[in-house]
Amino acid sequence: MNIEKKYLKEKFGKNLIIKENLSKYNWFNLGGPADIFFRPENKDQLKDFLQNIKNLNLKINIIGAGSNTLIRDSGIKGVVIKLGSKFSQIKLISNNVLEVGAATLDKKVSDFAKENNISNMEFLSCIPGSIGGAIIMNSGCYGSEISQILISIKILDQFGNEKELKRDEIEFFYRGCNIPKEYLILSAKLKGTLSSKKLVAKKQEELIERKKMSQPSRIKTGGSTFKNHKHKKAWELIKESGCDKFSIGDAKISEKHSNFFINNGNAKTSDVEQLINKVKKEVYNKTGINLELEIKIIGNEK
Ligand SMILES: Cc1cc2nc3c(=O)[nH]c(=O)nc-3n(C[C@H](O)[C@H](O)[C@H](O)COP(=O)(O)OP(=O)(O)OC[C@H]3O[C@@H](n4cnc5c(N)ncnc54)[C@H](O)[C@@H]3O)c2cc1C
Repeated sequence: MNIEKKYLKEKFGKNLIIKENLSKYNWFNLGGPADIFFRPENKDQLKDFLQNIKNLNLKINIIGAGSNTLIRDSGIKGVVIKLGSKFSQIKLISNNVLEVGAATLDKKVSDFAKENNISNMEFLSCIPGSIGGAIIMNSGCYGSEISQILISIKILDQFGNEKELKRDEIEFFYRGCNIPKEYLILSAKLKGTLSSKKLVAKKQEELIERKKMSQPSRIKTGGSTFKNHKHKKAWELIKESGCDKFSIGDAKISEKHSNFFINNGNAKTSDVEQLINKVKKEVYNKTGINLELEIKIIGNEK
């Protein structure tokens, strides 16, 4: 262990792990170790950490629930941050506005909104990520996206400076936004519309049921691998190009949804990545359409 890592380990104790295996922090269950894995207790500790590493020239990655992320087998050089439980709190700040920690799971936010008679957050119960991940991805389904209910976010930049960004200062688009990569989202204010618990519960159940019918559950996946093309859904392009039966090693494509790629048990990230590239190439050859990745692939190439 070099001197900097030793110093950081001594300073941050149990919250910092050297060479932590990342496969348990993502839905694919894949990926090698992070050089430095940091799970801050609270905002002050995160600021302190950022101050301490600012001259070390380390690349910083942050992961949420890891439901949209594929991590390479050789792991991640630099730092991986995963926000701890203090970043997973929900506060009702007026009758239809919530302040939500970035690590809070979307489903929890949807349930909290329901308990408080707030509608328009039902779709969050269908997305298995955290609020931080949902904002970066502008996640959504069935006609709703998180940008439609967002008021503002609080962030820390890479030096530990705190800022608030209003919705209007951020550009959102289909499965993405222009929030700088260095920004770590701490929390968000979300605004719904007042309704009744009964109506919200009904809408939430309908969406969950719809989701169950169309997408596989209890599998190791990152959800939709590619973004939909403006004229056609990615799953249709994959199926029509004859790629839905492709596999490499234990990396497969879901029979229920051909845009869901799966670690069928013993896949490596390299298998999944090769399968992604093979499908992308074949779809391009057959249709002339260049599929764009929705999932994020991170980590060292070798
Ligand atoms: C079964 C399944 C179904 C899915 N269905 C849908 C769906 O219907 N609609 C949809 O949009 N998506 C869907 N997804 C994809 C995924 O759940 C969403 O993209 C989700 O919002 C990602 O959140 P996460 O916390 O898991 O993000 P991660 O995968 O951990 O990270 C995604 C990105 O967000 C960044 N990030 C995470 N937290 C922070 C933070 N605090 N600050 C700054 N950056 C951060 C990461 O660095 C990364 O770039 C599905 C995935 C699965 C596995």
